[in-house]
Amino acid sequence: MTETEKAKRNPPWTRDEIILALDLYQKLEGAWPSEGNTEVQELSNTLNSLWRSQGFDGATLRNPNGVKMKLMNLRAHDPAFKDRAGLKAGNRLEVEVWNDFAGQPEHLRETAEAIRQAIAANTLSPTDYVKNDALSMEEVEAPEGRILTVLHHSRERSRKIVQAKKKDVLAKTGRLACEACGFDFVERYGDRGQGFIECHHIKPLSDLPNETKTRLDDLALVCANCHRMIHAQRPWMNIEELSNLVYSVQNSI
Ligand SMILES: [Zn+2]
Ligand SMILES: [Zn+2]
Repeated sequence: MTETEKAKRNPPWTRDEIILALDLYQKLEGAWPSEGNTEVQELSNTLNSLWRSQGFDGATLRNPNGVKMKLMNLRAHDPAFKDRAGLKAGNRLEVEVWNDFAGQPEHLRETAEAIRQAIAANTLSPTDYVKNDALSMEEVEAPEGRILTVLHHSRERSRKIVQAKKKDVLAKTGRLACEACGFDFVERYGDRGQGFIECHHIKPLSDLPNETKTRLDDLALVCANCHRMIHAQRPWMNIEELSNLVYSVQNSI
């Protein structure tokens, strides 16, 4: 397949896109939108612009009809409409997203709003929105989607705030120990481990676009292993959950 042919095919829907569609589905309360529904048009425009910036140019790419079809796919997962015939469920990702947000309408609304804000703020590179290589191999996209995941990582890797956090903890405790498992790089590696530890951003992902300034309290110190484990599976764990896990596994051996 040539690049031009590839660009004409419509790419599969991403988690971020399905979250935005599910948010609209929730807003419409199961009602069927008319052809010219403003919100369907708006969502179509937003998604279209993301993909077109990536070189996709199919004539039907995320057009209003495609967005309506996706709402129909989502309805097929809605227990309230279970007995309705003729609704075709789309893919596994829809089921996942539906389940991730089941019974949490407020969380869905906030997450979708945060994604829209992040897109509008235009602070990420276009590839961060859609490409897999925006994340490293072990990093799993959060339930809240790729855009907020990339934003999370960029916040916790910001050199200046990370240095300030380490300096602050070192001044207060005299060491840089992992808040989940207690690991201390100096204890294990001597001088080579001096000043070494990672930071994990602990605020909810839906807060990220709103808070442009990271505060010291937004970060937790974690060793490299614990940080990987937090992000290794969906849903991500928080520090307390990981800490409980580490100690319960330790005690069961
Ligand atoms: Zn650790
Ligand atoms: Zn993290």
